[in-house]
Amino acid sequence: MSEEKSLNFIEEIVEADLASGKYKNILTRFPPEPNGYLHMGHAKSICLNFGLAKKYGGQTNLRFDDTNPVTEDTEYVDSIKEDVQWLGFNWAKELYASDYFEQLYGFAVDLIKKDLAYVDDSTSEDIAAQKGTPTQPGVANIYRSRSIQDNLQLFADMRAGKYKDGEKVLRAKIDMASTNMLLRDPIIYRIKHAHHHHTGNAWCIYPMYDFAHGQSDSIENITHSICTLEFIPHKPMYDWCIENLGIFPSKQYEFARLNMTYTVMSKRKLLQLVNDGYVTSWDDPRMPTISAMRRRGFTPESIRAFCDKIGVAKRENLIDFGLLEFCVREHLNKIAKRRMVVFDPLKVTISNYLNEWETLSSENNPEDENGGNRALPFTREIYIEREDFMEVAPKKYFRLAPGQMVRLKSAYIIKCDDFVKDAHGNITEVRCSYLPESKSGNDTSGINVKGTLHWVSAATALPVEVRLYDRLFTEENIGNAEGDFKDYINPNSLQVIAKAYAEPALAEATLADRFQFLRKGYFCLDKDSTANKLVFNRTVTLKDTWAKVNK
Ligand code: ATP
Ligand code: MG
Repeated sequence: MSEEKSLNFIEEIVEADLASGKYKNILTRFPPEPNGYLHMGHAKSICLNFGLAKKYGGQTNLRFDDTNPVTEDTEYVDSIKEDVQWLGFNWAKELYASDYFEQLYGFAVDLIKKDLAYVDDSTSEDIAAQKGTPTQPGVANIYRSRSIQDNLQLFADMRAGKYKDGEKVLRAKIDMASTNMLLRDPIIYRIKHAHHHHTGNAWCIYPMYDFAHGQSDSIENITHSICTLEFIPHKPMYDWCIENLGIFPSKQYEFARLNMTYTVMSKRKLLQLVNDGYVTSWDDPRMPTISAMRRRGFTPESIRAFCDKIGVAKRENLIDFGLLEFCVREHLNKIAKRRMVVFDPLKVTISNYLNEWETLSSENNPEDENGGNRALPFTREIYIEREDFMEVAPKKYFRLAPGQMVRLKSAYIIKCDDFVKDAHGNITEVRCSYLPESKSGNDTSGINVKGTLHWVSAATALPVEVRLYDRLFTEENIGNAEGDFKDYINPNSLQVIAKAYAEPALAEATLADRFQFLRKGYFCLDKDSTANKLVFNRTVTLKDTWAKVNK
């Protein structure tokens, strides 16, 4: 069967532009504002911009859209670079919109000279009031007819720091009656005496988004400037600036933002979760940030596969978080090393096992023929999961119960002979006997058992901490939910198992490793681990526990 996928609408545009000879090579950009950590929505945009260039032999710039001095920080710049690289993409150039401040200033002077921009002394309240409404045209004020000469002088004075914040603005002179409110003489420069993370104190006037983005695209010769749907109303201004400045004609194309179930996709909201202590940090594994997904054990391959699967939409939609988890499972199944960890230990003594110990061998990954084996110590005392034993078992219980047999994974078949209770009636030990001829790989017992349990040898068990994560929110569509999004936080999104028992091979775990803990899910080492205590994150369960039973 052919796997060929049809082109998305942006690929169609690019192919047409290449076929017509409009461009020889395409150049895209990913333009984050460095005011927070990147989230899955950004991952979608990264995959789209870099993926498109890669597919058509073009290139992509990483441009920090850093025209707002107040909210930006180099901490964010560093994290953004790390995330893009981790996702597997290389940028052609690392650029900063703030590097264009001098050129942008020159563009503004150019507009003033063409009588297409003016300095306005009005208060922001007056400017808003004069702007009209969607059904009523705006009105021009007296500043609109200032002379070019005065405007040039005043704008130079703004730059020189003669005025306080908010005292004056520079506006484009377009059309106060336009049906597009954003064309009613938009503000293109404001005064802000603030330190900028990249330009320091060099500037006290800063360009607005609408006067920086398109021009930055144009300065870099970006051919296809891809952004999200909310920028559709900004497009006429984007084109107006390029046309009136006579600069490289970059073109803007819009696609739908990625929204996902049970989470929020907005740096502003994610920052609130961090600042208000709902999560520990931007990379808390419950967050939808790229850094959190990395820490949680998601792989770049699975995130790229997910972005590819959801395609490029023209209308807003809500993507099931389970689809991302499906992609993660698909990849981890291929690469994760199988290990055994008991979360809630119950001691099992194998009465007729008289060796001190023996070393068994178990495959690292049945999906990978080159995966090799690891050594697995077997001893007289082992731990199994408490829930894998029942004193009185129902009919179809294939785990351990008095008189019943199970296989210990990669080891032997054991039969439960007896069990011990303490004074409170809690089961403290299960006594079994094993079938020496039932050794995995060399089983001559002729006995078939239905249940296979994971286990660890008590003598060599390694105590580890395990962190299990659930959805951060209880509401599927937070965007549509009433009230504050924080009202829908899932109080049980983190469960910590302080002392689980791991097989000794896990002592060698590194941050790059991916594991499947048998019957428990996919796991990875967390950066909180120390030499004395290893901490593991559950990346994802083995099956979708949130799948709807009846759609
Ligand atoms: P936020 O609202 O989270 O702050 P933003 O759009 O303001 O996001 P930017 O740093 O300005 O964040 O975004 C960089 C790029 O990523 C932009 O091109 C933007 O359109 C894109 N982007 C942001 N969020 C999403 C999303 N949810 N889906 C797809 N693309 C997104
Ligand atoms: Mg933004």
